[in-house]
Amino acid sequence: MISLKQNINLSHYTTIKLGGPAKYFIECNTINDIIETLKYANGKNFRLQVLGGGSNIIFSDEGFDGIVIKINLKGITIQNNRITVAAGENWDNFVNYTVENNFTGIESLSGIPGTVGATPIQNVGAYGREVSNTIQYVKALDKTILEVIEFNNNDCKFAYRQSRFKNEDKDKYIITEVTFVLERDKEPEIKYEELKKYIDGNTNYNNLKTNTEKLRTIRKAVLNIRKKKSMITDENDSDSVSCGSFFLNPILNQEEYNKFVERFALILGNPKVSELLPIIHKTPAGYKIPAACLIENAGFHKGYEKNNVGISSKHSLALINKGGTTKALLELSKEIEKKVYDKFAVRLHPEPVIIQ
Ligand SMILES: Cc1cc2nc3c(=O)[nH]c(=O)nc-3n(C[C@H](O)[C@H](O)[C@H](O)COP(=O)(O)OP(=O)(O)OC[C@H]3O[C@@H](n4cnc5c(N)ncnc54)[C@H](O)[C@@H]3O)c2cc1C
Repeated sequence: MISLKQNINLSHYTTIKLGGPAKYFIECNTINDIIETLKYANGKNFRLQVLGGGSNIIFSDEGFDGIVIKINLKGITIQNNRITVAAGENWDNFVNYTVENNFTGIESLSGIPGTVGATPIQNVGAYGREVSNTIQYVKALDKTILEVIEFNNNDCKFAYRQSRFKNEDKDKYIITEVTFVLERDKEPEIKYEELKKYIDGNTNYNNLKTNTEKLRTIRKAVLNIRKKKSMITDENDSDSVSCGSFFLNPILNQEEYNKFVERFALILGNPKVSELLPIIHKTPAGYKIPAACLIENAGFHKGYEKNNVGISSKHSLALINKGGTTKALLELSKEIEKKVYDKFAVRLHPEPVIIQ
């Protein structure tokens, strides 16, 4: 028998602290609870919204007029170098667990808020790694047939902040567990230049003897860098009342890229383009343009504020809530998208899931 709570304030369940009341709210600790809730919602024709840690979701000020189902499935099992983690486990606690147990592979993904079950959805990534690099299987409950289905890494169709769960199968499944393949006692690889520089300048990494010490050092470095950018949820840091990066970095094909560089040079001058070029990465999908750079060059600055929402004073990609509303936040995001498009003819797309 499931027990639904009523009229629950969603702003308490999101890192950006926005959103009105959920008509119904339930925390599910077992797959059976989830199935019962789905049957109930189907029977009553209620809308249903899945919630993990609330770090990449924005609810409207009016709230949600159906059932919000918070996934609380717990448990970690290890079989050699395969670790299966239930969807409701906290991601960063899991990363810490792998570091302390000498598993290499996800240490650079330290400090990302939210649950393990949400990580495959947008293929979370940071500092040169994506979660797809280590995922072997994802298990998910099909909301229609109420059966758990297993997807291997290829089936998930991972790409930059993308997977099938965010595209063609959006809202079709509830992820119940994720299996990672990590390497035990393997020298970690530091792929990201900014992280490498930080570690070289601030630690005695090259003298460290054990692998666990190296993993701990990388984790600590990532957490320090993230903290400086307010990219760690911290109740004492008003710049961290966000969803992390609000916009995806746009990816341009060759033709779009050529036009963009030409236009950028025309508007801002060639020296500005050469400053920008080293941070444009060529990926298999195209040229990844730093959205932060477009935002700053479209007339916005870190710390910009309007109607009690704004841009973080540490990171121009993070929109923050300073006692405002979802309406004000979405207006600000539209204003940024418009100014960037008007200036550079490049469209920005929000990264968080927006529930209207
Ligand atoms: C300060 C900060 C820093 C961040 N840094 C990064 C970063 O470096 N890299 C990065 O990639 N992201 C980053 N994020 C974004 C966010 O942390 C990740 O996207 C995270 O994986 C979201 O997890 P969550 O459990 O909070 O998901 P939620 O916000 O609760 O949900 C997000 C979406 O996933 C769906 N969902 C959640 N759980 C499940 C499930 N079990 N089954 C099916 N659907 C589900 C929800 O329905 C919703 O559509 C950051 C966010 C913040 C606030």
